[in-house]
Amino acid sequence: MAYSILIVDDDTAIKESVEEYLKILNYEVKSALNADEALKTLDSFKADVVLTDIMMQGMDGLELTRRIKESFDTDVMVMTGYSADYSYEEAVQAGASDFIFKPFRFEELDLRIKRVLREAEFKKERSALLKELEKLAITDALTGLYNSRHFFSQIKTELKRYNRYSRSLSLLILDIDFFKDYNDTWGHLEGDKVLMEIGKTINACMRSMDTAYRYGGEEFAILLPETRLQKACVVGARIKDNISSQVFEPEPGIKRSITVSIGATELVEGEDIRSFISRTDKALYKSKETGRNKLTYIICNPDKP
Ligand code: GH3
Ligand code: MG
Ligand code: MG
Repeated sequence: MAYSILIVDDDTAIKESVEEYLKILNYEVKSALNADEALKTLDSFKADVVLTDIMMQGMDGLELTRRIKESFDTDVMVMTGYSADYSYEEAVQAGASDFIFKPFRFEELDLRIKRVLREAEFKKERSALLKELEKLAITDALTGLYNSRHFFSQIKTELKRYNRYSRSLSLLILDIDFFKDYNDTWGHLEGDKVLMEIGKTINACMRSMDTAYRYGGEEFAILLPETRLQKACVVGARIKDNISSQVFEPEPGIKRSITVSIGATELVEGEDIRSFISRTDKALYKSKETGRNKLTYIICNPDKP
């Protein structure tokens, strides 16, 4: 794919000769006679590099560089004469990636453009890699849900949002019933398949604003922002019913279903994270105690925690 260059110079002779040379080198080239025209062009032309003169009528090249860096993901190279009052530092401070003195040899210009393009590619690769690493650090490898580390960071964020904007926040904690038996009977690998499927089911049943986490080995948590307890219970019940209606085949011809127990609560004013999670855990424990394959909610009375 050809790289694209926008040349900005009010000297028509320079503009046209640079344009012609870069076209011969197979760049996709556009040009503008001043900064305003350049900004307008960039609205519809995605330039990899803008090559701009500094001294121009109206907005100068440094101001243009600043404007471009504010609004576009584009590298800028500035061109100026030796005698001009502009320094390399000024250009770099404005956001330029490189600086070239006029008159220049076209070969030098080409080399400098190539270097800027190469650095832009490196930068892109680095940021993609960083994004991937950041994603890995918060993802549970088996289920693809978020991991427990991310749960604790998100619940903190949600608690702050709750305190600032008084938005409701609910929490579901879910634990697989008799999962030890399943593992002991069919093996850990079959157990892992169940965990993966449950992850998918949770994802399919929750709403777009909810987030799901593998909270422990066979425990999951779902944070439901801006959600009252009653609505959270509807989401929880949907997850529970969808899981129990699923059929697993740990061995050919053997069909098994899995159930989960769920605890649900809603954050109350002035409450801390520990108390919020512990009340949800209590609700989950109640579901286990009273027969499993159940959802239990606890309404907190702030006067009697
Ligand atoms: P309960 O209904 O009371 O929750 O019974 P349970 O058997 O599910 O509970 P228990 O805490 O006794 O056992 C949890 C089991 O979860 C133990 C372990 O074999 C299984 N487990 C935990 N993490 C993993 C995992 O990553 N993969 C698999 N396959 N099993 C796991
Ligand atoms: Mg457990
Ligand atoms: Mg369990």
